[in-house]
Amino acid sequence: MTGTAHLNTGAEGVAGGVGLTALMVAAARAIETHRHDSLARDVYAEHFVLAAPASAGWPVRPRQVEDGDANPLWGRFARYFGLRTRVLDDFLLRSVHEGGARQVVLLGAGLDSRAFRLDWPTGRVIFEIDQEEVLAFKHQVLGGLSATPKAARVTVPIDLRADWAGALTGAGFDPAAPTVWLAEGLLFYLPGTAETYLIDTVHRLSAGGSALAYEVKLEKNLLDYRDSPLYTATKHQIGIDLLNLFDGEPRPDSAGDLGSKGWSTSVHTPFDFTHRHGCGPLPEPNDALEGNRWVFADKPRR
Ligand code: SAM
Repeated sequence: MTGTAHLNTGAEGVAGGVGLTALMVAAARAIETHRHDSLARDVYAEHFVLAAPASAGWPVRPRQVEDGDANPLWGRFARYFGLRTRVLDDFLLRSVHEGGARQVVLLGAGLDSRAFRLDWPTGRVIFEIDQEEVLAFKHQVLGGLSATPKAARVTVPIDLRADWAGALTGAGFDPAAPTVWLAEGLLFYLPGTAETYLIDTVHRLSAGGSALAYEVKLEKNLLDYRDSPLYTATKHQIGIDLLNLFDGEPRPDSAGDLGSKGWSTSVHTPFDFTHRHGCGPLPEPNDALEGNRWVFADKPRR
């Protein structure tokens, strides 16, 4: 990898660019928290949305969503984020409670408050990697709430297109201890080379018994879905042009790559989990979620 910790994401933090997507997910989690059939609760999420000028006027409660579930952004897409949060909460907790992971690394952590809201066994360390300005905003909001993490928490401000492995190990990460890694809502914003570096780095820094979950989009041409209700609503309602933020280059086959490195992988559609939980988005025509896959990978113990 080349580059420095300050590549061109802009120093906007959550005010714009890809950082603003962290606020979008936080608003979705705030809404999810207050649904009668909620799959995940995040009491911190609404505080991020209410604190940032960029999200002024965004809903944080189901009753504030005009059209309710029929709203493509704050209905269906927000339900998607609620489901994703729940599935990945379960994955992380299973990995530490049953899989023996000693460390958690949240890649592109954004406004993920799992360090504060999930029950971690004692002795676990949670590393959060994201842009410096996003982590600074998060620190400010959580500090204002006097929020206390439920595990040791270490933030690692760095651009994930740079050599972040050195920053992570420099922050105290131990490659000899089994780790659970998460890249939630991240990889499609990164160039293919950065995704390949990420997968290689996760492999290199993972002791046997480590696990990884990540999300990808498999569409050959993202622009085929440019008129989908989800993309157009996100652009018109909150000014986020996701297709403009996604990296448009062909994607690496990361699941295949992990398989060739000896990891076992399973690839799921989000709809698999909608069926499992009885709640969440279902397929629809011209569906921007059609190519989304959630990948779970395990590195065998030696
Ligand atoms: N994982 C979090 C969640 O699900 O709530 C945040 C998801 S948000 C859609 C994407 C996050 O990836 C943002 O916080 C953004 O700052 C971060 N991100 C995107 N590209 C990045 C990069 N090159 N370096 C560091 N962080 C990046």
